[in-house]
Amino acid sequence: MYQIKEAFYTLQGEGAQAGRASVFCRFTGCNLWSGREADRATAKCTFCDTDFIGTDGINGGKFATANALAEHIAALWPHHSDEATPYVVFTGGEPLLQLDAALIATLHSHGFEVAVETNGTLAPPPGIDWLCVSPKGSNPLAVTQGDELKLVYPQVDAPPEQFSGLGFRHFFLQPMDLAPLNQDKTTVAEATAYCMANPQWRLSLQMHKLAGFD
Ligand code: SF4
Repeated sequence: MYQIKEAFYTLQGEGAQAGRASVFCRFTGCNLWSGREADRATAKCTFCDTDFIGTDGINGGKFATANALAEHIAALWPHHSDEATPYVVFTGGEPLLQLDAALIATLHSHGFEVAVETNGTLAPPPGIDWLCVSPKGSNPLAVTQGDELKLVYPQVDAPPEQFSGLGFRHFFLQPMDLAPLNQDKTTVAEATAYCMANPQWRLSLQMHKLAGFD
């Protein structure tokens, strides 16, 4: 049984795939926070801005089989366009609590590339085409290589230097609390300065917030 909070068609807003048409599929639940405000202060991840509780979001629900969820996702892709490879991004919550090899293989059979955005604390199943790890605080990483490491910045207990030796193809700094934009230009400026001083890192601004799409 797979439980998803929501699923929708949009553009990827962050990182190396920013601007790419994508079906976003948000799994319910996370291993670093219950999602309830009453638990935030004692959570292992304390700055989350995502609602990942339940299955009541747009196109959310419970799916008994990998094929049922894959067909649900495939129906959100504009199939009149045959020129681009269908692309699904699994996020959460923590997607690796639920994503398994069977679902990945089923999506491949529907022609999809499969991307994952994970907090990196759980081992991924085989077959993922694009693996993005976003470390959260001092929570130990089970994933130390992949396609991109996207670090929300700043985090006092997760400085960029701690990750720069890991086996990722791309390293991104993403300023925390970008919305509303005018509220936190200092953080953007600090992230910009860090990337200029450390060219291994690139700046990732949340395009969906800048452009106003979800
Ligand atoms: S790991 Fe991600 S989904 Fe989980 S609480 Fe932190 S920011 Fe939210």
